[in-house]
Amino acid sequence: MKKIAILGSTGSIGTQTLEVVDNNDDIQVTALAAGSNIVLLEQQIRKYRPSLACVWEDDKAKELREKIKDLDVKVVSGMDGLIQAAVEPEAELVVTAVVGMIGIRPTIAAMEAGKDIALANKETLVTAGHIIMPLARERNVNLLPVDSEHSAIFQCLNGEDKRAVHKLLLTASGGPFRGWTKKQLADVKLEDALKHPNWAMGRKITIDSSTMVNKGLEVMEARWLFGVEMDQVQVVVQPQSVIHSMVEFEDGAVMAQLGTPDMKLPIQYALYYPERRFLPGDRLDFAALKQISFEAPDMEAFRGLQLAYEAGCRGGSLPTVFNAANEYAVAKFLKREISYLTITDMIQAAMEHHKVVEQPDVNEILAAEQETYEFIESRW
Ligand code: NDP
Ligand code: MG
Repeated sequence: MKKIAILGSTGSIGTQTLEVVDNNDDIQVTALAAGSNIVLLEQQIRKYRPSLACVWEDDKAKELREKIKDLDVKVVSGMDGLIQAAVEPEAELVVTAVVGMIGIRPTIAAMEAGKDIALANKETLVTAGHIIMPLARERNVNLLPVDSEHSAIFQCLNGEDKRAVHKLLLTASGGPFRGWTKKQLADVKLEDALKHPNWAMGRKITIDSSTMVNKGLEVMEARWLFGVEMDQVQVVVQPQSVIHSMVEFEDGAVMAQLGTPDMKLPIQYALYYPERRFLPGDRLDFAALKQISFEAPDMEAFRGLQLAYEAGCRGGSLPTVFNAANEYAVAKFLKREISYLTITDMIQAAMEHHKVVEQPDVNEILAAEQETYEFIESRW
């Protein structure tokens, strides 16, 4: 039996992780954590019987405790609770599928407790990669990528000498607004941005995909996970989302991982690595597909990607500012409080205003996050 904890079990990645659990008979779920969706969390608890469940909000946790008082499940809340779920002693692997920088402390705590990490929460690596990567080596824990592009690169690197990597080719669908001009982007409505052409995902990452900020976060994620420089990560637009990413080696050979767009593949690969297992679902049909096409990303229209490269190259606390400004802006856009292009305006203004802290520790990262929120609030 493989024992796992899932942080963010009610979300897109969390529920698909549980589908992978359902498709197999040798995974036991020992802890579940969610933000506020206690209706779904209760169903999950009744089905998977973890020993611990965490709900972010206190009053929701109280409500849940009452609902499941017939079960022997401890219900905790807040950041302390999330950390308890991350270090719950039975689990050997923690799936980090919460959205946003809230994932930093629980991920670090799980690693310090010696647990392998199936990492979906890219915001943690973007902001704290310089802490997470050395910690993984020190504690000898595996960081197994769940993000499809990073899983693809991870699969392409199987059995290869990492020193022979020339560059990583991170594929992007280009999102719903591929080919649009800045002028067209100015009128984008929330409904339009929430329609991703190929992937069904949580709301925040769907907006991030449409602005290409997601790809920018993924460039930084890749840089940390695979120990390369920012300029060794190149974004290639490939609208069909068939090639999940590629690696170019020193000799010019390019390895790619292909498949249908289904997050259960990278999730299952992370849970069972290095084993491959049967996964039900569609298979690629090349005759029906006919072609796979490629484009360079338009960094003029999609400034978020350009800003991500700048943040990643400068490093220190700047990626935190990039990420925090984006989290703040996307939350506002989801509430229809700002226009679409204001998202990147906010990121740029926050980055320009920030005084970079080198090698920030966790407290300095969280302080830079707070400072970014305050700056944007004072400006908009
Ligand atoms: P969702 O919004 O669908 O789910 C987020 C999950 O986090 C939910 O379970 C939510 O609970 C929970 N959550 C939110 N706030 C808190 C909190 N304060 N404490 C505990 N739990 C909390 O997001 P996704 O599944 O789409 O994304 C999760 C992460 O995975 C992100 O970092 C994203 O970038 C990454 N990712 C996602 C992909 C995808 O296909 N969806 C692909 C690659 C990466 P509740 O439901 O109660 O709000
Ligand atoms: Mg991705």
